Amino acid sequence: MKKVNIISLGCNKNLVDSETIAGILASEGFLLISKPQNADIVILNTCAFIDSARREAYSNIENLLSNKPEHQKLVLCGCLPQREKSTLFKKYPQIDAILGSSDFKNISDIINSLYTSKKTIMHVSQPRFIISSQPKLFSTPKSYAYIKISEGCNNHCNYCIIPKLRGPFRSRRMEYIINDVKNAISTGRKEVILVGQDTTLYGIDIYKKQVLHILLENISKIQELKWIRLLYTHPAHFTDDLISTIAENEKICKYIDIPIQHTVDSILEKMGRPSSKIIFNCIEKLQRKIHNITLRTTIIVGFPGETEEFFQKLLKDINNLSFHWLGAFMFSKVRGTKAYKLTDSLPSTTKQARYNELMETQQKITLNKNMEWLGKKIYALADTSNFGHSEFQAPEIDGRIIFTANQNTGSFKKHQIRQVKNVYDLKTA
Ligand code: SF4
Repeated sequence: MKKVNIISLGCNKNLVDSETIAGILASEGFLLISKPQNADIVILNTCAFIDSARREAYSNIENLLSNKPEHQKLVLCGCLPQREKSTLFKKYPQIDAILGSSDFKNISDIINSLYTSKKTIMHVSQPRFIISSQPKLFSTPKSYAYIKISEGCNNHCNYCIIPKLRGPFRSRRMEYIINDVKNAISTGRKEVILVGQDTTLYGIDIYKKQVLHILLENISKIQELKWIRLLYTHPAHFTDDLISTIAENEKICKYIDIPIQHTVDSILEKMGRPSSKIIFNCIEKLQRKIHNITLRTTIIVGFPGETEEFFQKLLKDINNLSFHWLGAFMFSKVRGTKAYKLTDSLPSTTKQARYNELMETQQKITLNKNMEWLGKKIYALADTSNFGHSEFQAPEIDGRIIFTANQNTGSFKKHQIRQVKNVYDLKTA
């Protein structure tokens, strides 16, 4: 039995692909193991969203190659090959196979042919595939699972390479998604986190209209499931049906991840993002219609043309909008995007200073919001025996609930919050 180790880099959407690769291989009789040095085959599933992700992928490749036993096969897949297929074999001739971001469907045949023909394989097609009913081996803690509901993106934000790496927006059929959720729940997991590059657009291609609210209703009927969480929404794509479904359905977390990227119209326009009016209206509506909603956003600082005045306006808006959670990136040019050609770049020292200032501003907001939980009894889902997360925290992203007494992983019960330790950690009584 051939032993396979899978290393997954990048975001949770890539992790779902890695889990699908693991599921396909396990069903074909491969043995999944956790240490690359003991594996016959190592699969490195890469990210290439920004330069730092590419550097991380190179460093992993180099590390694996320098420790590669003679019999071991190294298979590279994901976004890096999709982006750099022509140069990767030249740079690293010891790699055995290179697959694009949507070329893992036949992974077991590809691995088998590495043994029969002994030739290297390059298979990087146009990204059009979307996972359907392939088996999956969940790799997250036994409390939650990521479920991919769509692939690719049609939004073409000017700084983003994703539509080129992942292809056009395509939804998964509802029955396959529901099946994945049932499988996750059968392993004892109690929360599913729906991911895709733009989850709000779900259904527009295959069902000819946005039907995320119907998908959520259908998923919520699965017994034993406690929470459904929505990541990667788009401020211009919320429907009234979706908002009322989130507001009314008890199993849908009153938590929304809504990346806005900026609040100044001239910057938003250069980014190819919705206007500030659309953003502010959407947030106002979410806050008005969904009781106790927790919002998370993402901001890019230092985009070309961001003056000090624009940055101060952004800070003021962030204070007013008062997101509970916020992640920020310093803009970095990505070859192949429209923003790559913009000339009015900012020095890295300015970007770093703005990033620091934004994060300091946000930390005060987050800390104040966390303090509102002091003394309250809230449900927490245990991700390990020592910590878990609440409805208002996406696991791995937004901080943790630290348990005073050990819990069983996957346990779901109310705890009183006794202490706010810092921006991330709240401790139970
Ligand atoms: S919405 Fe914009 S930033 Fe997000 S994946 Fe699509 S193009 Fe990229």
